[in-house]
Amino acid sequence: MDRISKAIRTQIERTGEKEHASPLFLTSSFCFDDAEEMRAAFADENDNNIYSRFSNPNVQEFVDKMCILEGAEAGYATSSGMSAVFASFMSVLKAGDHLLCCKAIFGSTHTVITKYLPKYGIEYTYVPADKPEEWEKAIRPNTKMIFLETPTNPGLDIIDLEIAGKLSKKHGLILNVDNCFATPIAQLPIKYGVDLVTHSATKWIDGQGRVLGGIVLGRKDLIKDIYLFCRSTGPALSPFNAWILSKSLDTLEVRMERHASNAYFLADHLKGHEKISRLKYPFLDTHPQYAIAKKQMINGGGIICFELKGGLDAGRRFLDNLEMLSLTANLGDTRSIASHPASTTHAKLSEAERQEVNITPGLIRISAGLEKKEDILSDILSALKKV
Ligand SMILES: *Cc1c(COP(=O)(O)O)cnc(C)c1O
Repeated sequence: MDRISKAIRTQIERTGEKEHASPLFLTSSFCFDDAEEMRAAFADENDNNIYSRFSNPNVQEFVDKMCILEGAEAGYATSSGMSAVFASFMSVLKAGDHLLCCKAIFGSTHTVITKYLPKYGIEYTYVPADKPEEWEKAIRPNTKMIFLETPTNPGLDIIDLEIAGKLSKKHGLILNVDNCFATPIAQLPIKYGVDLVTHSATKWIDGQGRVLGGIVLGRKDLIKDIYLFCRSTGPALSPFNAWILSKSLDTLEVRMERHASNAYFLADHLKGHEKISRLKYPFLDTHPQYAIAKKQMINGGGIICFELKGGLDAGRRFLDNLEMLSLTANLGDTRSIASHPASTTHAKLSEAERQEVNITPGLIRISAGLEKKEDILSDILSALKKV
């Protein structure tokens, strides 16, 4: 059976009520028939659920579906994308270890790597996403992990997963990839030898802007450590959120196909616009890493970004003149969203730091929603007219 069909058909075992949709196990703990059963559960001698910080049927259902979609051996779901990323660092790395990371990276991940990991004695080096020849030179005897994000947020750089996979195998490193932007519908990192895949399920996986969630997937031995770390430190996914996210997965492929075709339509119609100096979409042949995107992605995803010629002021005027698109911090919703990183998510960085990760003053990121493509385009075009 195809992985999409298999994921859709995977669900919690039917109860005596013979429900069709999965029941919601909104419970903090689970009962035991007797002292012996309880003892055995705590001794890990059976698979009984004990407490929802450790495991819960709805959370497990979400993990099972994601494992099928990503082709992963195992997974552990968390309360947010950031707790998934953080757990993947803290359970694998220890004081004295070194982390290699691509420079263009999600804002909070950057904060964890530069502000918090060093507090625990974990060093890092940033390498440019588009120059894999520089990665090997940055590897040290104590390098333990490579962490990458592709496509990157918000700059849409594409990193060659095949090269990263070979490099990490050659040096015995753990390769950890944030697959949030592509989703398992558009990109399967594990095929390239990636050991861990992290996701913010808050974005495309929920896809409707309702709940926070995250997940780490990959090698069984590493996921076991992540599970043990999380079960003690507490970033458990709520069963309610897991129930929402599981249902969302059933429509992920059809949604992503529509998001991607809408995004391509916008990119194709906006390229060369007189108010825009540079437009990027992974499946547009003008993207600097178009060949890599075509090699490793099934579609180009739902995000486009472009640079307004008028810089910071033009960016703010553009947002103010949109009528339909939402101004909000999220992405990957049914409703199209516009954002201006330089005045919002990345405003705390210095101008030089923003330049380093290609966040130019007039950069606009559009998350293509599921509205009719002509309506999204016409809102963007009329806002551009007033910039
Ligand atoms: C949003 C996001 C995260 C963090 O996810 P949360 O669910 O907001 O914690 C991590 N990586 C990328 C690429 C993201 O876009």
